[in-house]
Amino acid sequence: MSEPLLVPCPHCNGLNRIPAERLTEAPRCGRCKGALLGSEPFELTQASFVSQNKGALPLLVDVWAAWCGPCRGFAPVFAEAARRLHGRCRLAKLDSDSNPQLSTQLGIRSIPSLILFRDGREIARQSGAMSLPQLLDWLRGQGIV
Ligand SMILES: [Zn+2]
Repeated sequence: MSEPLLVPCPHCNGLNRIPAERLTEAPRCGRCKGALLGSEPFELTQASFVSQNKGALPLLVDVWAAWCGPCRGFAPVFAEAARRLHGRCRLAKLDSDSNPQLSTQLGIRSIPSLILFRDGREIARQSGAMSLPQLLDWLRGQGIV
């Protein structure tokens, strides 16, 4: 038996303990029974950021806005990356218009922006849309893929 990993629930922010070997078995939240590791990006907010920016898996945040054309163009790439990285990295979207305080706190100057967190700390950041191969290459460079 391996040490359980801590995984925050994207629905209720509850912190779950999941054995590493179960990460790929669609684990559910002990509190709300929602899917802990969906294959789609989940929505991050000012209110949930602190709860979500913890746990064993890296967190990749796409900062975007509805009026931003490049952001909308990048959305399918980010969604596909979420499917590919299922169980290895958690992908979240942060609407900068709905969460201006957090966007300022994160020092967002342009969108789309990608921020990669590990162990609650930012380890890498990239501005501008990328293709899926570029995104996966960038993540590989951070030791994620
Ligand atoms: Zn939950």
